[in-house]
Amino acid sequence: MTTERLYFRDSYLREFSARVLSASPGQGWTEVVLDRTAFYPEGGGQPSDVGMLGGYPLDEVLERDGIILHRVQGVVTEGEVAGQLDWERRFDCMQQHSGQHILSQAFERLLGAPTVSFHMGLESSTIDLGTSALEQGQVDEVERLANSVVFENRPILVHLLEGSDLSRFHLRKATDRTEGIRVVEIQDFDEIPCGGTHCRSTGEVGLVKVVRWDRRAGNSRVEFLCGVRALRDYQAKNRAVLHLASSLSVKDREVPGAVERLQRELGEARHRMEQLMDRLLDREAEALLSQARVVDGVSVVSVLLSDYGAEELKRLAGKITAHPRAVALLAGGSEKAHLVFARSEELGFDAGQLLRKVSSPFGGKGGGQPNLARGGLPSTEDAGIALEAAVRELFSATG
Ligand SMILES: [Zn+2]
Repeated sequence: MTTERLYFRDSYLREFSARVLSASPGQGWTEVVLDRTAFYPEGGGQPSDVGMLGGYPLDEVLERDGIILHRVQGVVTEGEVAGQLDWERRFDCMQQHSGQHILSQAFERLLGAPTVSFHMGLESSTIDLGTSALEQGQVDEVERLANSVVFENRPILVHLLEGSDLSRFHLRKATDRTEGIRVVEIQDFDEIPCGGTHCRSTGEVGLVKVVRWDRRAGNSRVEFLCGVRALRDYQAKNRAVLHLASSLSVKDREVPGAVERLQRELGEARHRMEQLMDRLLDREAEALLSQARVVDGVSVVSVLLSDYGAEELKRLAGKITAHPRAVALLAGGSEKAHLVFARSEELGFDAGQLLRKVSSPFGGKGGGQPNLARGGLPSTEDAGIALEAAVRELFSATG
């Protein structure tokens, strides 16, 4: 049961008719074998074609043990059927696949880097090169060569060989096939055995663009886009750059420099803010200590600071309890309350225990070290009551 591959001779065939050789029903679909097909089955790095077959959507074509199976969403029986390719998807695949041949040869010629594998996805495609070192300048050179081959609009020819005599070709990669060999030639540039679908000339491939690369286990994985995909990518990136340039009030090529400047300024501003915050917290700690309640020589600061976050409260507590015989019972936050309880090293009570005891009646949680504990309450409204309870606990213990 062999199927004639119409796409071998004509990758521009969009509609065809064929005879059903077998039709195996599955759950909601039929697996159909045809006497001939223009649909490309997934393989060789290229995704399968989709389209319509026998009036039903065809969403997958695969090859199993040399047999091409068409998975049709409907009931197909014996007889003649008509097939129509999703041409937009096929042509996109032809652009990527032909572009891959050009790019692989360019990498090989300029850098001596062979293509060890190739994968074409529906979004982007990758080539794995047998080199781990790839520089921006080298990639630029490769792109220039690849695109000059596109601009020269060279014919892309397909040779279907009867025998296995490959002596007249200069193949980029050998084949272990002994019959039915198909050589794809980009005139005076690249020759390789390939069963995929390609454009008829390099001009149809459009722009060939490497978008990024990274190291993969001793190789380099190069992601690239061709033709329509490269155009869409350019459109999206152009929109992004124009948007950035307008937000930064610079020309589009000045965006990277402007972003670096902003980052530097932001770093300096953060550093300055940090210095000022430290000074502010020092003064706040002094002011709070000067108004603290003192019992048995222990200064107890108990205060609700609604515009303080958890981190600021912790730093403030640290500054208060850096003084000898000081206790900080601090609350902050606007909706949920943060609690920080701390004490000087030389005092004996357990701040974590105290925090848990006064916050648990309000559904609060917390914990930490005996000298520094942090927690929270579901509502700031209860924070004042919890702080008062903590002060009472402390005074009853020390008094
Ligand atoms: Zn190919």
